Amino acid sequence: MNAKIGNKTGAPAAAENTIAKKEFKEAVIQHLHCTLGTDENKANNHAWWKATCATMQEQVLEGLRKTQKSHYLNDTRAVHYFSAEFLMGRLLSNNLQNFGLFDVANEALKELGVELSDIMEEEPDMALGNGGLGRLAACFIDSLATMELPAIGYGIHYEHGLFRQEIQNGAQIERPDSWRDFGNPWEICRPESIQQISLYGYVETKYGDNGRIQKEWHPGLIVKGVPWDIPVVGYGGKTVNVLRLWKSEASHYFNWDVFNAGGYVDAQRENIQAETISKVLYPNDETEAGKELRLIQQYFFCSCSLKDIIRRYKRAHGDDWSRFVEQVVIQLNDTHPAIAIPELMRILVDRAELDWDKAWDICTQVFAYTNHTLLPEALEKWPARMLEKILPRHLEIIYEINHRFMALVDKKWPGDNSKKAALSIIEESNEKMVRMGHLSVIGSFAVNGVAEIHSKLVKQNLFPEFDELWPGKLTNVTNGITPRRWLKACNPALSKLIDKKIGTDWPTQLTKLEGLLKYAKNKTFQKQFMKVKLENKKRLAAEIKTLLDIDVDVNAIFDVQIKRLHEYKRQHLNLLHIMSLYRRLLENPDYDMHPRVFIFGAKAAPGYKLAKDIIYAINKVADKINNDPRVNGKIKVVFLPNYRVSLAEKMIPASDVSEQISTAGKEASGTGNMKLALNGALTIGTLDGANIEIAEEVGEDNIFIFGLDVDQVHELKSNGYNPYDFYYKDAEIKAILDWLETDYFTPGRPGALVSIKQSLLDQGDPYLVLADFRAYSDAQKRVDEAYRDKDRWAEMAIINTAKMGKFTSDRSIADYVSRIWKLSSCEVR
Ligand SMILES: *Cc1c(COP(=O)(O)O)cnc(C)c1O
Repeated sequence: MNAKIGNKTGAPAAAENTIAKKEFKEAVIQHLHCTLGTDENKANNHAWWKATCATMQEQVLEGLRKTQKSHYLNDTRAVHYFSAEFLMGRLLSNNLQNFGLFDVANEALKELGVELSDIMEEEPDMALGNGGLGRLAACFIDSLATMELPAIGYGIHYEHGLFRQEIQNGAQIERPDSWRDFGNPWEICRPESIQQISLYGYVETKYGDNGRIQKEWHPGLIVKGVPWDIPVVGYGGKTVNVLRLWKSEASHYFNWDVFNAGGYVDAQRENIQAETISKVLYPNDETEAGKELRLIQQYFFCSCSLKDIIRRYKRAHGDDWSRFVEQVVIQLNDTHPAIAIPELMRILVDRAELDWDKAWDICTQVFAYTNHTLLPEALEKWPARMLEKILPRHLEIIYEINHRFMALVDKKWPGDNSKKAALSIIEESNEKMVRMGHLSVIGSFAVNGVAEIHSKLVKQNLFPEFDELWPGKLTNVTNGITPRRWLKACNPALSKLIDKKIGTDWPTQLTKLEGLLKYAKNKTFQKQFMKVKLENKKRLAAEIKTLLDIDVDVNAIFDVQIKRLHEYKRQHLNLLHIMSLYRRLLENPDYDMHPRVFIFGAKAAPGYKLAKDIIYAINKVADKINNDPRVNGKIKVVFLPNYRVSLAEKMIPASDVSEQISTAGKEASGTGNMKLALNGALTIGTLDGANIEIAEEVGEDNIFIFGLDVDQVHELKSNGYNPYDFYYKDAEIKAILDWLETDYFTPGRPGALVSIKQSLLDQGDPYLVLADFRAYSDAQKRVDEAYRDKDRWAEMAIINTAKMGKFTSDRSIADYVSRIWKLSSCEVR
């Protein structure tokens, strides 16, 4: 397809090189015939989807080629975003949208008798991530391309992404996800850039001719890393960057060296086959698994990616390392890629034969690290023994890094062994452990948290000694979301309404949404805004009917909690409140409340027993309430299975209330909170993570804040929190918890929900659910009252949308660029 007819019809930011409807139609037909071997009469939705993707992909690849050429000719400095997770979701509508071709495609397909929205449903989500951390990486690479910044995402080409969730009799069942079963139209294999990766084996110490000690790693296993590229289209379609994902394969190369040396081909060779490495994503969000295969996954993608970066650098600069730090910056998305630090040291010292100090100087100018959590169970530590087995040379290097670092600490605090113990990479516990967070701080030139409060706590509680040692190294970059996916594409009706009021620049300049403020009190605009919301609610209600056969009232408040299931996120606080409303209705059928639909979406890690119990409880309570005529439709509870990006895109535009109710100090930032507020949902939330900054933006009158703040949580915990105080003091709390012990919600199975009660009483209620219950319940009353004033609610919703400018991921990226990466944009010709 070579037509290059400019889209002059005013589609926002349409690319210059886009095509017109006629050409689009011809190209789709051509692909049906010649790529898919079918025709327009026989084709089903899947074939139409593939043909449409193939049509798009031609445009995409042309943009990719131009981008790569421009970056090469300009010898640009680039950021390399290392992340074990990229939660991309679907790409067709995003790519159409970013190329300004969405309307063209929609009309072209209509003329062919096909609904674009139907065929988009054929696309499986690319779910190569667990939750917020992976989705952040996806939003960031969207912003990087949109802002025309030279960037590459590096990650793992998992064969199976996050499991598909089914609900059977109320319980979560995990099924394998297979996102590329019928081929993925966006990915391109690049066999010319395969890398070889070493594992296991032993280290030999040699003395070179020059008297230099040389270390040689004789690996026990070599695997191939095969790169698969996913093009990342910026809004406006000018820059097309890549996400490069590594797939592991067996190497035909056999290491005779090791075989001869000890006759021991490691027993582990049988354990972990090369193909296993990129087989499956670990489904633990906020939990460090400590499994060998996970460490191998991390090393595998870091080593492949570093070698790829160095290959590209050498193509331009040969063996001259002096310009490496000018060209390369690597952002570590949490500690998952921290092993890249000793790997770069190994390459520089053992392979390139640089002096240690020179190599360390390079490393500490290249890496920057983002911390995502303070939860102790999520802070990665590896047993030294495991590292020694899998990566013997890297353990030596880590010891050497630590040795030199300890000398530095001794200089600052002479003879202070407690400071050394606190700062050491090595934790001298029962089993010697390597702390990846410490390694990351020491090996990076900048460390950031992901919201103001989180970054403050990183400094105060997690790394206080590092902050003292290196003032200014620890900083903040508040997270963001891409408004292209999370407003323009997922909420077309609201987007068009906004376009009409303030123009079409907002997707790349989100603070322009403030232009809506002057209409916040305008009755006509309020009606239009709430009409869009109502239509979105109708669409979601239809989806709920189809999926679960539950009837929901679209005039009810749609109250939405969507996020991974975790105790700290407190879905059980929401559940206890639902039970309290139910109980009030049973006691008093005239209990005054506006009808409400409580909607949940959440996956639990398969090994997280209590989280799965909470999903079960939500479903059982839902069954009971939804079928109890005494409730008279005032409450409905809906658990939508298999929460994922494409489902979020349907739920968020239809939400009235956004539940952001984590225990203060536990949610690093949250990004779901931003997506919902951007789409005009009002937040009920704690003073935690980015909720605090959202409250600052929208003002306290336009958000429902409740509960203990970080200081109060700290105070309550240090005074010895006893949940029984709340149980005995508050009759409603007692009644609800006792209810869980009966078989009221699980007929014939008494005690099936008791684990929740136990965790909140005998196990000490670690996330202060009972301590916050009353404040939460009161805040929910305020929500109820506020909703009854339709005009005021509309005004608040409009203000929320209008004030979300700060939370575009473009602003996050701009912060990284100016404060950490020091990058310049590159115009693509
Ligand atoms: C945004 C997003 C998340 C993160 O949600 P939080 O509420 O910030 O935890 C998780 N999963 C999906 C699919 C998302 O789109």
